[in-house]
Amino acid sequence: MQKTLVILLLSIVLFSCDQKPETAAAPQEKKGYWTALDKIRTKETNPRPVIILDAGHGGIDPGGLSNHDSTELNVKEKDLTLYMSEQLYKKLDKDRFNVIRIRKKDTDFHRHERTRYIEQANPDLLISLHTNWDRDSNTNGFEFAYSGRILNYVDTNKKKPLGDTVNIKNPFAEQLTKYCQTLSANTKRAFSGMRNRGIKERTDRIWMLYGVHYPSLLVEFGFVTGKHDIFYYQKTSDSLDMFVNILAKSITSFFPPPPDSVYVPPFGMMPAMEAKE
Ligand SMILES: [Zn+2]
Repeated sequence: MQKTLVILLLSIVLFSCDQKPETAAAPQEKKGYWTALDKIRTKETNPRPVIILDAGHGGIDPGGLSNHDSTELNVKEKDLTLYMSEQLYKKLDKDRFNVIRIRKKDTDFHRHERTRYIEQANPDLLISLHTNWDRDSNTNGFEFAYSGRILNYVDTNKKKPLGDTVNIKNPFAEQLTKYCQTLSANTKRAFSGMRNRGIKERTDRIWMLYGVHYPSLLVEFGFVTGKHDIFYYQKTSDSLDMFVNILAKSITSFFPPPPDSVYVPPFGMMPAMEAKE
């Protein structure tokens, strides 16, 4: 009983600490804008982590096309990403996670629309689901990517970036690398015949990685144009389901279950604590 009381009091103290605004008053010249660090520092702990599933492409944007002669192997990336998103949504425990899908059907969203939606949802993790594409059918394999730097200044009135030259080092990079290592190892174990293209710290400003201020990860499960990978997308193959299982398990294990004491999300609060002067 006494122990419960101590934990309760500790929770209250720590919780009220979290409520304190950690953001310093914005300097005058930045009025009307917020910065990535402002956003990250105001991220609060969440007992039910928000996971956003972004099924890449959609609608008029098909993503990568296999253009295969066989009807069964003639696939579009937008369909594969939607399938993965839907399956992953079903697999994640809704009591544990608040799972949000950016698209639930074949609709297209502009990248700025997606990021605006993401900013409002304040996610603990964003997974952007894709399959890769290349001119050379010999290019095959899976990879995971995050951005080394993230966009800093955004106009709060127009919800638009002020230009894409002002950026900061991604404060989630270290945790994202750790998470990708787990994902990569588990994927390799399940798909021993698939090429592991590794974990990429992207510098080419992929919007879903570069334009958001939350832990954001890009998944490329194979190449639709790959002569080896194409068979993973066959209707008769359960590869996509197996891969989704790996994603679901990794999310569940990376975010610890709500404990008796204080919950600390693996991505969310770390930069804020580090940023304390
Ligand atoms: Zn894509």
